[in-house]
Amino acid sequence: MSFSVSESVKAIKPYEAGKPLSEVEREYGITNAVKLASNENPFGCSPKVADAVLSKLPDMNRYPEPIPFTLCQKLAEKYHVRMENMVIGNGSDDIIALLAHGFLNPGQEAVMPLPSFLMYEISVKTAKGVPVMVPLKDFSTNLDGLVKAVTPETKLVFVTNPFNPTGAVITKDEFLRFADKLPDNVLIIVDEAYIEFVRNDSVYNSLSVPLADPRIVTLRTFSKAYGLAGFRIGYGIMDKAVAEILNRIRQPFNVNTLAQVAAQAALEDTDFLSKTISGTHQGIDFLTQKFTEAGFEVMPTQANFFMVDVKTSSRDLCEKLLRKGVVVRSLASYGYDTFLRINAGTDQENQTCVDALLSVAGK
Ligand SMILES: *Cc1c(COP(=O)(O)O)cnc(C)c1O
Repeated sequence: MSFSVSESVKAIKPYEAGKPLSEVEREYGITNAVKLASNENPFGCSPKVADAVLSKLPDMNRYPEPIPFTLCQKLAEKYHVRMENMVIGNGSDDIIALLAHGFLNPGQEAVMPLPSFLMYEISVKTAKGVPVMVPLKDFSTNLDGLVKAVTPETKLVFVTNPFNPTGAVITKDEFLRFADKLPDNVLIIVDEAYIEFVRNDSVYNSLSVPLADPRIVTLRTFSKAYGLAGFRIGYGIMDKAVAEILNRIRQPFNVNTLAQVAAQAALEDTDFLSKTISGTHQGIDFLTQKFTEAGFEVMPTQANFFMVDVKTSSRDLCEKLLRKGVVVRSLASYGYDTFLRINAGTDQENQTCVDALLSVAGK
């Protein structure tokens, strides 16, 4: 090859997505595989989504609304903010990339936990910025470490609450003390992809008092609790000066029409959301109990997934589980060689997972 790839892009490790079910089934010659590897909603999505999407199909020759008006209005009402505080993205991944492109000059820094959701690092490097990674402390975000890593070149600080992949959380007090120590000129990106599943009242929720601090950018997604991962839609709530930058650089039609109406319908169906949340809690509690009884160490979690120490190579165990038609995530690539990450499924999926794990682990 004679063309030259950007140095910062050369340093990017490709994103390792969980294998889609269809691929696993083809590869292993199995059917009815159970996928508990990508923190998806096992209960599907609101039945109102299908109606909304079908009724929109006749309009698909038209471009989408550049700003999904009704959806934004509903979000504005829900969070007591204005439309100009909002950016809608093709998944929250899209907004992460926009933040990196909008606020980093080449060589400027974005501080984040290590390990982190891989899209932070990929987006920062793509924008020619420098990710500065701060190892976790006791499987939780090292907030003091993040503060210490800030330099005059730091423009962005990422936190994830609850944290993926450990399920750990940041409390209100911890967050406020942390934010207090950060300079005025950094954006604090609070990724709340799993916030709907939180059961502990002391956990920080950036939209309980939205826009209290102009540095805070809240990221939310329809991919998890709302069950719309395949549609690709998420949003950010932020100071209007920040939103204006992101809206300026995003693709004008970054969110497709069907995703817009799907999200609107999903947001209205609070009943489906409540059922998802209670079903998820039930699943987490069941799996935690069974795995603990089997002698595995389950980490406490506030998300729809948990991390478990299987005390043997998690890569090998994952492979054996795949052969039994159960797809979970090995955390070996994160440096946690004996840990799996498993999300709550339906009752039946959870039982299948427990049976398969006990059998491959020889319990
Ligand atoms: C799943 C997830 C998201 C959501 O990404 P989308 O692009 O909205 O699907 C964001 N952040 C974290 C940490 C996640 O695990």
